[in-house]
Amino acid sequence: MTAPAWNPSPVKNPSPIWHPYAHLKTQRPAPKVVGGEGPYFHLESGERLLDATCSWWCMIHGYCHPRLVNAIQQQADELCHVMLGGLTHEPADRLARELVRVTPEGLNHVFYSDSGSVGMEVAMKMAVQYHQLRDKPGKHRLLSLMKAYHGDTAGCMAVCDPEEGMHSLFSGYLPRHYFAPAPTAPFEAEPASVAADLAALRAVLEAHHEEIAALLMEPLLQAAGGLNMTSPHYLRGARELCDEFDVLLVFDEVATGFGRTGKLFAANHADVTPDILVLSKGLTGGYLGHAATLATDRVHDTFIGDSDMHAFMHGPTFMGNPLASRVALESLAVFEEEDYLGKIATLNGVLREELLEDASLRAHPAVEDVRVLGATAVIETREAADLAGVGEWARDQGVWLRPIGRWLYTMPAYVTSPDELRRITDTMKDWFR
Ligand SMILES: *Cc1c(COP(=O)(O)O)cnc(C)c1O
Repeated sequence: MTAPAWNPSPVKNPSPIWHPYAHLKTQRPAPKVVGGEGPYFHLESGERLLDATCSWWCMIHGYCHPRLVNAIQQQADELCHVMLGGLTHEPADRLARELVRVTPEGLNHVFYSDSGSVGMEVAMKMAVQYHQLRDKPGKHRLLSLMKAYHGDTAGCMAVCDPEEGMHSLFSGYLPRHYFAPAPTAPFEAEPASVAADLAALRAVLEAHHEEIAALLMEPLLQAAGGLNMTSPHYLRGARELCDEFDVLLVFDEVATGFGRTGKLFAANHADVTPDILVLSKGLTGGYLGHAATLATDRVHDTFIGDSDMHAFMHGPTFMGNPLASRVALESLAVFEEEDYLGKIATLNGVLREELLEDASLRAHPAVEDVRVLGATAVIETREAADLAGVGEWARDQGVWLRPIGRWLYTMPAYVTSPDELRRITDTMKDWFR
């Protein structure tokens, strides 16, 4: 007997799933998740991994939270979906009222969509149309910041950092906008140290405000672009500049919203109300995809008028989905009833003690910087190569870490206990030993 001539090499990853941000040639087979509870998820292999990322920062209550699961089950018995075009329903209506209640004063109107990227697309279209309706059609470009990340759809890619923002390949395809330097003053900076950042912002506005509809920013924490943190004074200064130059201020709180920076919203640190606010990730506690774009009366009322131009021409099929709205209501209720801001303050204390105050970590030759804000911490290394293999290595320790480029970070679920968080920070530190 001879061996068959055709002897295919074993297929590495037999699934037809095309994974995000993956190099198809070098990717490892993705482990299969079969369940979870609290901050852990379980693999088919029997491994139980402590999730340091809470699944791209959205699973703030951890996995299989009984109240959230129950809310979805109950809503499924009543109404799974209905269009929001010309119709409404109780969960969407109640959630809109709750979002108006908890967000900064003055954001009184809620436009739903199904993901953070689409929530940002809605914000950008709203800003451009707002100026059209006020007879300022020249204001049709946007001002964003270097190191920004606002999503992966075309409109969002165009306002991500044009050099490092993962999308440079598409530069010929995208509309051109303006960029100001990323803020450099840290969270604790005094107003005087923020002055240079604000002067840089002012310079772009002075030169181009006649073309600029809105300034977009991830307030206090530029997340996917390298976990760059800045001062509340920067937000206040940006608010004043926007008023001076008749430019709308859009806060993308898709990552920072729902406690990540230590207050319910990053805007709360500065007592600033943006003209438009975008929420997603933590909105439903991660249990279903959804987003909300909130607007002030000034923005909303500009759309009240007689011409065809006054309708806002956007309407995602799944906007205001009843299951998503219902689980978002439950998520917010758990957040408030179980003092999540208190839990976040405790987690912040652990992150400071274990990472910020660890002199040997900070002195390590591969470590460029260590930063902590709210329930977020990052070890910035000098090169991405310093983190090669850290994910697989951490998995062997029972921890799920997934760095972004040079940044090894944790954004744990808020139900993570101090001891569990120490396991995460120990794993992050052990990598450098
Ligand atoms: C994740 C993220 C988005 C995009 O949200 P998706 O739901 O992935 O489309 C937008 N802005 C910020 C700040 C984000 O972190």
